[in-house]
Amino acid sequence: MAKRYGIAVFRNKGDVISCTPVAAQLKADEPDCHVTWFSSTRHGTVLENHPHVDELVLLDGDPAGLDATLPALCARADLDELFTPAAYHNYARRPGAAIFELVQASLDRPWTVPFVFDVRLTGQERAAAGAWWEALPRGPRVLVETEFLSDQSAWTDACASEVHEALAGLDPLLVFSAGGRPPFLDALLARGARALWCDRPFRWNLEFFNRCDAFVGVSSGISTLCCASEARRDVPRLEFTRGWHWSAACLPGLPSLRVAYSRRRFRAELVRLAARLRGAPAPAAACAPSGPPRCPLCESGTIAYARASDAAYGRCVPCGHVFRLPGPVADLGPPPAPAQDPALREELLELALRAHPGPSQAPSVFESHAAAAPAHARSDVVLDLGGLDRADDPHAWLDRLHERLAPRGVLACLCANRDALGWLALGADWGPRAAGGLRHLWSRDALRAVLAETGFRILGLRAHPGPGGNAAARAALRTLRPDAPETALPALVEAVLAEGRGDAWLALATPR
Ligand SMILES: [Zn+2]
Repeated sequence: MAKRYGIAVFRNKGDVISCTPVAAQLKADEPDCHVTWFSSTRHGTVLENHPHVDELVLLDGDPAGLDATLPALCARADLDELFTPAAYHNYARRPGAAIFELVQASLDRPWTVPFVFDVRLTGQERAAAGAWWEALPRGPRVLVETEFLSDQSAWTDACASEVHEALAGLDPLLVFSAGGRPPFLDALLARGARALWCDRPFRWNLEFFNRCDAFVGVSSGISTLCCASEARRDVPRLEFTRGWHWSAACLPGLPSLRVAYSRRRFRAELVRLAARLRGAPAPAAACAPSGPPRCPLCESGTIAYARASDAAYGRCVPCGHVFRLPGPVADLGPPPAPAQDPALREELLELALRAHPGPSQAPSVFESHAAAAPAHARSDVVLDLGGLDRADDPHAWLDRLHERLAPRGVLACLCANRDALGWLALGADWGPRAAGGLRHLWSRDALRAVLAETGFRILGLRAHPGPGGNAAARAALRTLRPDAPETALPALVEAVLAEGRGDAWLALATPR
């Protein structure tokens, strides 16, 4: 007999939208199954006209409070199974994952359909939204989302001025789509901006997105809506969010998405967006400013020593990045070229080719420390063995590698691990540190963020023994466990890697 399934997601339009692939997977597995979706009247309307929802039950009341009805829904005899795929119910399934990855992880069955959101406007809605949009004043129109309920973005009213200033040369119309009138709107208009408040129905934003010249969002409901399958893929879009967890950077098929996880990157990306709208090439990333030390990732000036015994490195308090401090202690001369290690090179090349969807017979390879290739050359594989560790500006470095990569190409990047057991146990005697020239020690989160911010989609990221093989991990283990028998070391080294404490990170990534 055909199964009857329930899906319950009450809170936030973005959360409801992000769970629509679950209905698609249930229908793909069992075309005859009956899907009832329980949601709130405030947010569930995004599911109207949905092809995979047989019955939509919208409950009144505070959406967060409606979670209290879940035990009763679970116990209903007319449902074979109830799914609660919203990210906020599934944090424990994949710690550290992005919200959309948590939704994906919520389903205890294999994914055979693409993980793509599905929102279907009626022809009537499309026509009404299209007519509203086309009646707007002429010129480039930028759809802007500024409302969010959680703490997913560092957006403040001042950011609206930054959008206006960065795009001023284009004289765009800024369309702030929001439930409430933006508090910064009058100030913006007084400064000569062309801007207006759009309070049209939420679903219409999908049609607005498809007609706009660019979109700036804060990873809230409209941003999620604009990742739906019916949304255009070529609209320039900028996501200003606090990091990987809230970001759409983990989703495939969003080639025009740029993400900014800090105010500094947001400003840089607005400059890039202005260039793109003018049809000009992307400007080079700005170099880190001079003056007191600032974090090269987020520009914060709140820096602590990374290790009490090693004053050469600082740790950014807000984002945790570890970097070499300027000054006499760290003035070690120019960074050396990354270590040449043929075996390591072969290993990374093989992993990159395995991750490549269709490398040619003779795949082209660009190595980051090599002399610059011709400007037009794009390679199947880019190898970066320690280059990111030594870059003055990691974003600019990765921008350059991105430009070297063919559209489906794979970057294999090996870089020093901030959480390496060797660094923690041996400090200045740790091999990669002692060799000098390390400007950055990466945490997993910082590496993931900087790859996302430079237009990469991450295919894999794991700890790796690094250029010295397992030597540093073995030396550290010898220090920590002097009495351990030699035969126990291999298993201990494996455990070090499994815990993310190898000397290096190995990241495989592809252009979004
Ligand atoms: Zn920082």
